[in-house]
Amino acid sequence: MSKREFQTEVSQLLQLIIHSLYSHPEIFLRELISNSSDALDKLRHLTLVDDAYKSLPFDPRIDLTLDEEKKTLTISDTGIGMNDEDLVSHLGTIARSGTKSFLSQLSGDAKKDSNLIGQFGVGFYSAFMVADKVEVTSRKAGEEKTWRWTSDGKSGFDLEEVTGAEARSVAGTTILVHFNEEGAQYANSWRLKEIVKKYSNHIAFPIFLTYEKSEWNEETKESTKTRVTEQVNAASAMWRRSKSELKDEDYKEFYKSITGDWEDPLLWFHTRAEGSLEYTTLFYIPAKAPLDLYQADYKGGVKLYVKRVFIMDDSKDLLPQYLRFVRGVIDSEDLPLNVSREILQQNKVLTSIRTASVKKILSELKNVAANDPEKYAKFIAEYNRPLKEGLYGDFANREVLLDLVRVKSTKVDGLTSLADAKARMQPEQKSLYYITGGSEDLLRNSPLLEIYRKKDIEVLILDDDIDEIVFSSIPQYDAIDLKSVNKSATSEDLQDESTAEKSEELKPLLEKLKATLGDAVKDVRTSSRLADSPSCVVSDEDEPSARMRQMMRAMGQTNMPDLKPTLEINPDHEIIRKLLANPGNPHTDDAAWLLFDQALLLEGIQLKDPATFVKRLNRVLSLSV
Ligand code: ADP
Ligand code: MG
Repeated sequence: MSKREFQTEVSQLLQLIIHSLYSHPEIFLRELISNSSDALDKLRHLTLVDDAYKSLPFDPRIDLTLDEEKKTLTISDTGIGMNDEDLVSHLGTIARSGTKSFLSQLSGDAKKDSNLIGQFGVGFYSAFMVADKVEVTSRKAGEEKTWRWTSDGKSGFDLEEVTGAEARSVAGTTILVHFNEEGAQYANSWRLKEIVKKYSNHIAFPIFLTYEKSEWNEETKESTKTRVTEQVNAASAMWRRSKSELKDEDYKEFYKSITGDWEDPLLWFHTRAEGSLEYTTLFYIPAKAPLDLYQADYKGGVKLYVKRVFIMDDSKDLLPQYLRFVRGVIDSEDLPLNVSREILQQNKVLTSIRTASVKKILSELKNVAANDPEKYAKFIAEYNRPLKEGLYGDFANREVLLDLVRVKSTKVDGLTSLADAKARMQPEQKSLYYITGGSEDLLRNSPLLEIYRKKDIEVLILDDDIDEIVFSSIPQYDAIDLKSVNKSATSEDLQDESTAEKSEELKPLLEKLKATLGDAVKDVRTSSRLADSPSCVVSDEDEPSARMRQMMRAMGQTNMPDLKPTLEINPDHEIIRKLLANPGNPHTDDAAWLLFDQALLLEGIQLKDPATFVKRLNRVLSLSV
């Protein structure tokens, strides 16, 4: 027998589970049954696709065996099983970064942490809420040796080989739970049946409960105990039942059983397609976006079934990446059972299902937005960003995605749809405008907005760090041009007749400024977009902004051409008027740099040489104090 210690994170997680989940200890059973169901799914799939497994017996079932006196419960399955290495790595370490990042967010405050843990699948370790000892005996399908993992859930676990009759009695995995004081309430057949019905009724495999039933014997006038085995779940693939038969509670229970989420889902969409292709989809949107949604090893997505037989989960091909938060089931009648991941990638049937599913999900979301704004606001609070990823990647659905995303704006407090922004356009307004490149505060105070404010034109405030990349790839919304106010080309909405005239007047000054700033700028121009500020920087229509380049450089992009911004000057500003009036002014050099540097600062860009900036500022300041 060998003794091993838990990885630190495991001990941490165990402590946490035991201390914050005491209000729902019963979920331990849901977790263990769901692991058994996963193990059965995996073995079934292998027996279908892998020759090495085809000859193995497969009698899928989950058995709960209760010993009320000893206060023990075994959960047995005939699934894929685990060998010694699996036991160590699956039940002794935490490999997924999602779990690690979950742990790193814990505050130590029991109340807050228990809220957080509700969003997180607790899994196998939840058994230690109700047990002072757990023994996992398992033989991996196709292997000879049987292993036993034993732990009290405190410091570590023992691992030993099991032989003889004991080994032969195990077909896949058997988990023996020795109930502790807290768990003793579950050494009760009635209670167990109730919990299985509540959480695991729709698990696709039969779950049997074996226990001692007390029966009254009329002849002997005595109560006798008989050992009985009863099936305790419906074991139906619930998604194949018709919508009219299913209650909200059925949908919620099934969602929880496949995701391990505690909260009810925010939304679900259940569809049966009949026609050239036959399939059923049941999609769920979790109430909270998973904590690891933005991590590379995020596991989620939907499960693929063929004719009710599980094929795989978390396949990257079932739905586009940006819809990775959607959970649920796709069940096809038309795919072969032995379909492999590789085949799926180019499979026409799956491509059609995928295309239709995306359309379905997006159009259902549009319905929610139109009919249940409150619910839609909850959805947006969690998933606006993935939708934006979709805007960037899913060209075919761009129109509807543009209707679904929400943005900030100079005209509203919260968020707005583009449709509403379009409806608010001025009668003569030609384009919809947006500003990108920094925090909401920075953007709202940007000099670039001055002229729009003056003309009462709405500007969308796009302060999410992916907004610039996303929106610069979208030329139009609903036949209206989308224009960035950060870009240099002046829009027709801002043109007025005097601009050309003023440029003429400013020409000598512009040349002088340009000569002073030299290589630092691409050009110096008269601006028609400024009202209160003397200057601003803009980038060319087809170039990434200065702010974006700084971001890309920070992310390690080194070979970026050093694009220069264009400085724009407000011809009506007092400083500019004074410079014009006094061409021989000895401070024109300082003024040129200060006009440029302040414009950079307002864009949120760090100055290359702040010391010189301060020197200049002080020189100019000393003239006025
Ligand atoms: P999750 O199910 O989210 O992966 P768990 O903590 O519930 O996390 O289980 C950890 C892992 O242990 C599983 O991914 C699986 O590999 C393994 N495992 C647990 N129970 C069983 C079982 N009954 N049969 C086979 N493997 C199992
Ligand atoms: Mg699990």
